[in-house]
Amino acid sequence: MDLMGLCSICGKPDAMHTCSLCGRLVCNSCFDNIHGICNSCKMGKQ
Ligand SMILES: [Zn+2]
Ligand SMILES: [Zn+2]
Repeated sequence: MDLMGLCSICGKPDAMHTCSLCGRLVCNSCFDNIHGICNSCKMGKQ
Protein backbone atom coordinates (compact mmCIF):
# COMPACT_ATOMS: atom_id res chain seq x y z
CA MET A 1 0.00 0.00 0.00
CA ASP A 2 3.02 2.24 -0.01
CA LEU A 3 2.56 2.93 -3.71
CA MET A 4 -0.80 4.55 -3.20
CA GLY A 5 -0.95 8.30 -3.49
CA LEU A 6 2.11 8.85 -5.65
CA CYS A 7 2.08 12.24 -7.29
CA SER A 8 1.59 11.94 -11.06
CA ILE A 9 3.85 14.90 -11.72
CA CYS A 10 6.83 14.75 -9.38
CA GLY A 11 6.41 11.21 -8.03
CA LYS A 12 6.40 12.11 -4.38
CA PRO A 13 4.45 9.69 -2.18
CA ASP A 14 2.28 12.34 -0.62
CA ALA A 15 -0.28 13.03 -3.32
CA MET A 16 -3.58 14.03 -1.84
CA HIS A 17 -5.28 16.17 -4.46
CA THR A 18 -7.18 15.18 -7.59
CA CYS A 19 -7.07 17.50 -10.57
CA SER A 20 -10.57 18.43 -11.70
CA LEU A 21 -9.41 18.66 -15.31
CA CYS A 22 -7.27 15.59 -15.94
CA GLY A 23 -8.18 13.60 -12.82
CA ARG A 24 -4.56 12.91 -11.93
CA LEU A 25 -3.51 12.48 -8.34
CA VAL A 26 -0.96 15.11 -7.40
CA CYS A 27 0.79 16.35 -4.27
CA ASN A 28 0.30 19.68 -2.59
CA SER A 29 3.21 21.39 -4.34
CA CYS A 30 1.97 20.28 -7.77
CA PHE A 31 -1.58 21.42 -7.16
CA ASP A 32 -3.22 24.79 -7.57
CA ASN A 33 -5.72 25.08 -4.75
CA ILE A 34 -7.27 28.21 -6.22
CA HIS A 35 -8.31 26.60 -9.48
CA GLY A 36 -8.49 23.02 -8.28
CA ILE A 37 -6.20 21.79 -11.02
CA CYS A 38 -2.70 20.37 -11.25
CA ASN A 39 0.31 22.45 -12.32
CA SER A 40 0.45 20.57 -15.60
CA CYS A 41 -3.06 21.67 -16.57
CA LYS A 42 -2.40 25.13 -15.22
CA MET A 43 0.59 25.64 -17.49
CA GLY A 44 -1.37 24.58 -20.55
CA LYS A 45 -4.11 26.93 -19.55
CA GLN A 46 -2.73 30.37 -18.74
ZN1 LIG B 1 4.03 16.50 -6.93
ZN1 LIG C 1 -4.48 18.22 -14.37
